[in-house]
Amino acid sequence: MPGRIPTMRADLGLGEGYHSPQVEASVRLNTNESPLPPPPGWWDAVLTEMASVEWHRYPDRSAWALRKAIADLHAVAPEQVWCANGSNEVIQTLLLAYGGPGRSVAVWEPTYALHSHIAQLTGTAVAEGDRGADLTMDRDEVVRVIEAAQPTVTFLCSPNNPTGESVAGALVDEVLERAPGLVVVDEAYGQFSPSSAVDRIGEDVPLVVTRTYSKTWSLAGLRLGYCLAPTEVVAAMGRAALPYHLDTFTQLAGRLALRYVDDMERRVSMLVEQRGRVAAALADLPVDVWPSDANFILLRPRQRSGDDVWRGLLDRSVLVRNFGDRPRLADCLRVTIGTPEENAAFLTALAEVLG
Ligand code: PMP
Repeated sequence: MPGRIPTMRADLGLGEGYHSPQVEASVRLNTNESPLPPPPGWWDAVLTEMASVEWHRYPDRSAWALRKAIADLHAVAPEQVWCANGSNEVIQTLLLAYGGPGRSVAVWEPTYALHSHIAQLTGTAVAEGDRGADLTMDRDEVVRVIEAAQPTVTFLCSPNNPTGESVAGALVDEVLERAPGLVVVDEAYGQFSPSSAVDRIGEDVPLVVTRTYSKTWSLAGLRLGYCLAPTEVVAAMGRAALPYHLDTFTQLAGRLALRYVDDMERRVSMLVEQRGRVAAALADLPVDVWPSDANFILLRPRQRSGDDVWRGLLDRSVLVRNFGDRPRLADCLRVTIGTPEENAAFLTALAEVLG
C-alpha cells in the first residue's frame, strides 16, 4: 500500500556522508583499525573456553567477569566499569541515561562526529563550540560554551579524532571544575597518547573515560568498548541498557584479550614508531600536517584538492579517509598508521600523486 511508510524522524541528522566508504583497496588506511590481528594464543584460549559455554542460557547480564578483568587492568572497582558493543554503544547508553529533551551536550568541532550524532538520536541538544585556528582546543572557547550552555554532558576527545591532539591535563581539570554535569573523555586512542584521564576516575568526580577494543586491542570485529565512571553512573547506564545487551562470546573474548597486554603494548609501540616515520616523511612533501598522539595523521595537500589526492591514492589502491566535506576540514585527508609496508605504500603513492 503506497504512502503507508512514514517519513523517518527529521531530527536524526548525519546523512550517509559520515560513513567511510568501504571500497576495495589493497592498502586500507581509512578507519583507524589495528593493522595486525590479535595473538594466536588469544584465539586458542577463546576456543577452549567456548567449549564449556552453556549457549542455551542468556549471557551474564552484569558481564561481571569481564568488568572485573577491566577493573584490575585500570586499578578501579568492577562497579566503576561499564561495557557495551563498542564505545559508540557506551556513549549511546550514557546519553540514554543522562541526555534527552531539555538537556544538552557540549562538543568542540571538528571532533568525532558520533558524539553529536548520538546526542541527536537521544533527543539531546548539541552546544557546538569551535576549535582554535590550528584546530587545537581553545581554553577560552571551552569555558564560553560550558558557561553559556550548562551542558549535562561535556565531551572531550583525547586524542581527538580526526586532528590527533590530546587534551591537556590542566584543561581536563578546569572542565571538571566548571562543567555542571558529567565530563566524558573519549580515549578511543588513549594508549597511543602520553596522557590519560584514567587516573582522575573517582566516586566523587563527575568523570567518565571511554575506551575501546577496536584500535589497540586489534579487535574491531568484536565490537567491545567500555567506560570507567563513578558507581552511580554505571548503575544508571545499567538501567538504560537493554537486558543482556552484551553477548556471551563478546564477554569471554574480551576478558581473554586482557591476558595479552604485552602483545598489545608491543603493537602500540610499533605504531607509535611508525607514526613518527610517516610524519617525518610527510614533512618533505607539499602537505600541511597536524601533530598526532593517535594511530592516524590528518594532512592537507597544499597544491592539489583533497578530492583529487584521495582519488589518486585510490587509483593506486591506497584508501584513506576524506574529510573534505566536513566543516573546517576542507581538503583534509586522514591516514591511519599501518604496518611498515602499508605506510611505505601510502607514502610512495602520495609522492606520486603530488608529483
Ligand atoms: N570514539 C572515537 C574518538 C572513535 O574514533 C571511535 C571509532 N571510530 C569510537 C569512539 C568508536 O569506537 P568503537 O565503537 O569501535 O568502540
